[in-house]
Amino acid sequence: MPSTRGTSGTSPGRTCSSAENRSNVTNSVPRLAAALASRGVSLVYAADGSEALSYLLQRIPPGARVMNGGSATLEQIGFLDVLRGGRYAWLRPAIAAVEDRAERIRVRRQATTADWLVGGVNAITMGGEIVNVDGSGNRLAGYAFGAGKVILVAGLNKLVPDLTAAIERIRNTAAVQECRKLALHTPCAVTGRCDNDACRGPERQCGKILIIENEKIADRMTVLLVGGSSFGF
Ligand code: SF4
Repeated sequence: MPSTRGTSGTSPGRTCSSAENRSNVTNSVPRLAAALASRGVSLVYAADGSEALSYLLQRIPPGARVMNGGSATLEQIGFLDVLRGGRYAWLRPAIAAVEDRAERIRVRRQATTADWLVGGVNAITMGGEIVNVDGSGNRLAGYAFGAGKVILVAGLNKLVPDLTAAIERIRNTAAVQECRKLALHTPCAVTGRCDNDACRGPERQCGKILIIENEKIADRMTVLLVGGSSFGF
């Protein structure tokens, strides 16, 4: 299990797989934990995906109403398999089963108020700003206020120095991979670089941007930072 929560939850160098990761953890995690704590967000450090999954299972009670935000990281650590296994009242399958578009949008809106929302992160600055981009924004709605408890799962590869680097990462790393995975024809998918002015229409993945700078509700938001390897885009 991850050691603890908050700034004391870091365990520098305990089980990271490379010298680079050990250095990242030692140098970055305590500083990030302090920055997030000053913004009302807890940080939990898990040494690897297995430890991250154990934390989620321990934290979220069985039977809880859970929604997941789109995240390759959740697949990598095995949390989607847990959701498929029925431990929780998972909201996404009911959404996928709705064929009528208007009705599906209505059900997606309802899911933004899940008791637990577990999702990924596009970038976290070392100052503690959490940056996410969505095509439609349903995940962001839950992150911002809709969901009861929010757990944001991120690898060390999501840490960036500042907001400029966060947007650069989102547009020219994360979106490129996401658009290519979805076989879209956005400028970033075609050329490997974002062309914001040329990108219009339903294929655009960067529709809405949320920067979480502070959380007012105590114990609502946790960043689960996972060491060991790269996670997600
Ligand atoms: S705005 Fe368009 S081209 Fe730029 S990163 Fe987003 S999807 Fe790609």
